[in-house]
Amino acid sequence: MPVQPELFFKLKEEINASGATLVAVSKKKSVEEIKALYDLGQRDFGENYVQELLQKQPLLPDDIRWHFIGHLQRNKVKSILPFCTLIQGVDRLELLEEINKQASKLERVVDCLLQVHIATEESKFGFDSAELSAVLPALSGYSHVRVVGLMGMASFTDNLSQVSAEFRLLKKLFDQYRSYFLIPDPFLSMGMSGDYKIALQEGSTMIRIGSLLFGARQ
Ligand SMILES: *Cc1c(COP(=O)(O)O)cnc(C)c1O
Repeated sequence: MPVQPELFFKLKEEINASGATLVAVSKKKSVEEIKALYDLGQRDFGENYVQELLQKQPLLPDDIRWHFIGHLQRNKVKSILPFCTLIQGVDRLELLEEINKQASKLERVVDCLLQVHIATEESKFGFDSAELSAVLPALSGYSHVRVVGLMGMASFTDNLSQVSAEFRLLKKLFDQYRSYFLIPDPFLSMGMSGDYKIALQEGSTMIRIGSLLFGARQ
């Protein structure tokens, strides 16, 4: 299903008005669907699966900013580094180490977000608060990784106050550790199709939207 231009422009304006960036999550969507949204001016796209990203990236314009938002396996890091703008789901130390190692071979510094586990579901990934407080002070040891903020996913629930509370916790950690993020305006990536309005209220600066833009995935 092609993206409806009015819907895209309205959503983008709503998100930008809050000072946040829209990342269009294009997993399971075709090159044609992505190109149509690109032609409307969208440049930030998020993908979850390495194989899929490697197939689509060469067929699309070079100025797309690709965000890797999925759970990344260590042995796949090397293949996406040459063109990835931001690796959002850095959820464990060994992944950070591998990104640093591969980035140094390319003589590149790669921007990353640390993923924080804020949801109640065990299935979701990320550092907990204690791990985060241990990892952040050690980042200076990774010279080819630049951690530019935090990312998280709220629980999948109808309980809106729970979702707010989870986003609020992430925002609190983001503010608390702000001095570790080595850019003037670091990113707080939280909020998806179902909960982006709450995320904006709680201070998100990066919204990742898939199904609301492109329609439901198969
Ligand atoms: C799929 C995905 C999204 C987008 O989800 P929608 O509900 O389709 O907007 C956002 N973030 C992550 C990490 C995802 O895996």
